[in-house]
Amino acid sequence: MNYVENIRCPNCGSYGERHHLLDCNLVRTQCPECDYLMVTCGVTGKVVEAYAPGLSLEHFICRV
Ligand SMILES: [Zn+2]
Repeated sequence: MNYVENIRCPNCGSYGERHHLLDCNLVRTQCPECDYLMVTCGVTGKVVEAYAPGLSLEHFICRV
């Protein structure tokens, strides 16, 4: 079961969301204020994807 956690954005300090995508062992952290996005592996903590502003977050749904 996936779940969402409210966090502080590590980039700008605003409230953001951390999505735990347990189906594919990914953790996606995103911030609507600055468009921060980081996807890490839920097992190893390794960064899978990361970027700053401009692109759609919809691209980063679970792809497994
Ligand atoms: Zn932010």
